[in-house]
Amino acid sequence: MIDFELTRAGTPDVAVRIAAATPTAQQGATVRFVAGGTNLIDFMKLDVETPQHVVDINRIPDLAKVEKQPDGSLKIGALVRNSDLAYNAEVKSMFPVLSQAILSGASAQLRNKATTAGNLLQRTRCPYFRDLAYAECNKRTPGSGCAAIAGHHRNHAILGVSDQCIATHPSDMDVALMALEATIHVQGAKGERAIGIGEFYKLPGTTPHIENALEPGDLITHVTVPAAAGKTKQVYLKLRDRASYEFALTSAAVVAQVEGGRLRHVRVAMGGIGTRPWRMADAEKALEGKAPGESVFHAAAEAALKNARPHTDNAFKVELAKRCLVRALTMATTNA
Ligand code: SF4
Repeated sequence: MIDFELTRAGTPDVAVRIAAATPTAQQGATVRFVAGGTNLIDFMKLDVETPQHVVDINRIPDLAKVEKQPDGSLKIGALVRNSDLAYNAEVKSMFPVLSQAILSGASAQLRNKATTAGNLLQRTRCPYFRDLAYAECNKRTPGSGCAAIAGHHRNHAILGVSDQCIATHPSDMDVALMALEATIHVQGAKGERAIGIGEFYKLPGTTPHIENALEPGDLITHVTVPAAAGKTKQVYLKLRDRASYEFALTSAAVVAQVEGGRLRHVRVAMGGIGTRPWRMADAEKALEGKAPGESVFHAAAEAALKNARPHTDNAFKVELAKRCLVRALTMATTNA
């Protein structure tokens, strides 16, 4: 780990001001905000992340709340710990898919430390990205190549991949937030702005080191999740190599209403298979207005994976993801 300067900020304004005063390196910001540190500190120990300046935001009190808003939406502070969010009474009743997704990730100890904003900014677990012994990693060192494409890539992505990077986005929580159409609220040097989660994550393309829509020094302050128009069925299903403390091979978040025996307002997102949490628009179209049933679910799964671009070791994910989605849809709509 390289030497770095540590500053504590007591308000978002101070945090943003400190960040704005730190010079920006050519290949990414040299300032990082730290809260739970469950991801950032790991990468700093590995010298994958080498910020010159770390701003501790743990003492900003207003960012650690979950509040129901007058319009029925839920406002989730950036510093809300994953455990607190998963067990929050409003989350459990309004957005059980979010609670299920969070509890399927990491371990209890990690969830007690990890925060909402930190989860949104989780970086890939691609082993070549984490290990400086491998020189080829376009995400870590732009223009250096991709060791995973010719190497081991069983856990890598089949959707949104490019010739430059096939790394999978690791989060479960963000898959649920994608299906719930959350909005991410940011404060930066140019003021405040809101970013729909569908626009937040970037595809790797030719710039895999640019992972999201944040500008250097931007602070995520909170996330809002809109209330559903009616009673919804919600399920998060995660398939993985072992039953706990493991990343998804594939996962599915389903949010849907069943009115008069027909599927309405269907939202589907999947994890473990995309370079970002992946919204399944084609599957949603295939499901909308249909009576729930096996043939409809299989047609939706085919639509969802039709653009998959697997490599040698991860081709099995195509079929696994289809079965995961069919099962999640069945679970969500059984006894609807
Ligand atoms: Fe790096 Fe992406 Fe290739 Fe992994 S898949 S080695 S993160 S460029």
